[in-house]
Amino acid sequence: MTLHQNLIAGEWVGGDGVANINPSNTADVVGEYARATADDAKAAIAAAKAAFPAWSRSGILERHAILKKTADEILARKDELGRLLSREEGKTLAEGIGETVRAGQIFEFFAGECLRLAGEVIPSVRPNIGVEITREPVGVVGIITPWNFPIAIPAWKIAPALCYGNTVVFKPAELVPGCSWAIVDILHRAGLPKGVLNLVMGKGSVVGQAMLDSPDVQAITFTGSVGTGKRVAAASVEHNRKFQLEMGGKNPFVVLDDADLSVAVEAAVNSAFFSTGQRCTASSRIIVTDGIHDRFVAAMGERMKGLVVDDALKPGTHIGPVVDQSQLNQDTDYITIGKKEGAKLAFGGELISRDTPGFYLEPALFTEATNEMRISREEIFGPVAAVIRVKDYEEALAVANDTPFGLSSGIATTSLKHATHFKRNAEAGMVMVNLPTAGVDFHVPFGGRKGSSYGPREQGKYAAEFYTIVKTAYTLA
Ligand code: NAD
Repeated sequence: MTLHQNLIAGEWVGGDGVANINPSNTADVVGEYARATADDAKAAIAAAKAAFPAWSRSGILERHAILKKTADEILARKDELGRLLSREEGKTLAEGIGETVRAGQIFEFFAGECLRLAGEVIPSVRPNIGVEITREPVGVVGIITPWNFPIAIPAWKIAPALCYGNTVVFKPAELVPGCSWAIVDILHRAGLPKGVLNLVMGKGSVVGQAMLDSPDVQAITFTGSVGTGKRVAAASVEHNRKFQLEMGGKNPFVVLDDADLSVAVEAAVNSAFFSTGQRCTASSRIIVTDGIHDRFVAAMGERMKGLVVDDALKPGTHIGPVVDQSQLNQDTDYITIGKKEGAKLAFGGELISRDTPGFYLEPALFTEATNEMRISREEIFGPVAAVIRVKDYEEALAVANDTPFGLSSGIATTSLKHATHFKRNAEAGMVMVNLPTAGVDFHVPFGGRKGSSYGPREQGKYAAEFYTIVKTAYTLA
C-alpha cells in the first residue's frame, strides 16, 4: 500500500506508516499515513520560518490564483474526496460530500479575500501628519485540528492563514489524516512555494507538543477538546504568541409550547444525532416546556424509529458509525451514567451489528433528565441526548445558559417575542431559531463564548483578526 508522506520544505518525506481504519468496516484500511517525529516538526517549523519573508511579500494575485485553483480542484473532486472523508471518519456520504463542498467554498472565499486586502488612511490629531493602519501577516502559524470535520476545519484554518501571507505548519488529527493529506497535495500542486505549507501527521503528544514548545511558531489555531486547548493556551502564553481555541460544547435546544412540532422534531433530531452527534455544535440538551413535552417526546420516538444506522457509504444510511472504539466506549459509558443518575432511557442506546465490523450505536434519547446530571453538563460527543422538562420560557432560557460552554444555542418557537429575546440573551456565539444548533455558513463568523472558545472568531472576513497583526504608521507630510 502506498505510504502518504509528510510535506516538509516542499518535499514529501517518509516515516513510519500508520493504518487509517474505516470505522464502518474495521477490516478496511483506507491508507497508510506517515507518522512524523518531533524532529520532523522542528524541520517543518524551520522551513515555514525560512519561507515567511518571501511569502509574506508575495503578490495578491499569486495567492489568489493558488487558493482559487485549490477550490476548483476540491469542488471538481467532491464526490471522491467526500467518499474518502466518509470512509475515514464515518459520517454519511451526503454529509461527507457536503463538507467537502464547504471546504471548496472556503478556499474560494479566501481566494477572493486576497483581492480585498485593505488598510485605512486617516488624519492625525496633530497637524501635517498622516496615519496609515495596515494589517500584516503574523508569521509561522501552527494549525492543530480534530477528527470530526476532517476537511472543513483544515480548510477554514489553512485558507485564511495563506491568504493573509502567513506560512503554515499543519498537524491534523491522527484518526483522519486522509482528507488533510489530500488538500495539502492539492495546494502543493497548485503552486505553493517550498516551505509555505508543511504537513506533519502524527501524535498530538509528539508533533503537536513540538509545535507548542517552539518559539518560532508565532500563532497557533486549535480546534479540539478542552483539555488539549488548555495546554495550547498555557504554552502559548509562555511564548507570548497569539492563539485561538475552539473547544467543546453542551449546546441547548429549547422547544417552547408554541413551536411547530415537526420543525422542532426535525431540528432536534438533526442537532442531536446527525453526523453521529460528533459535532461541537451538536445539541445533547433538549429543553422542553411542559405544554408540548409529551407530544414532543412521542414524536421524537416515532422519528427515531425511521433513522437508519449503517455503513456510512451505503445509500439510505442516515447515521454512520461512531469514529472509533474509544469514542464508542465514552458514549456507552455516558448511557450507563445517565441511567444511574435517574434519567429514563426512552429510546435507543443499544450497540448494533451490521454486515461489516464497525462501531455502530443506536441514537439514544433520555427523558426525565435534570440539568445537574453529568449527561447534561459534560460533552458526550456521540448520538446521545437528554430531554429536560421546564415550566416556561424563562426557565428554559435559564437552563439553556446554565452550562460552562457557549458555542451554539437553538430554539423552536413561533413567537417573535421569544425568538427575539432568545437571540439577545442566549449566552452563545451562535444562535439558531427554528434551525438545528449545527449547520453554519462558510462566509460568516464561527465561534463561541465561555468555556467553548478563546480568541477571535474564525471564518468570513472576521478571520483577519487572528491571521494578521495591525500596524499603525505615522508620516510627517
Ligand atoms: P483532541 O483535543 O484530542 O485533539 C485535537 C488535536 O490536538 C489533535 O490533532 C491532537 O492530535 C492534538 N493534540 C493532542 N494532544 C496534544 C498536545 N499535547 N499538544 C498539541 N496538540 C495535541 O480533540 P479531538 O478528540 O480530536 O476532537 C474532539 C473535540 O473537538 C471535541 O471536544 C469537540 O467539541 C471539539 N471540536 C470543537 C469545535 C469547535 O469549533 N468548537 C469543532 C470541532 C470539534
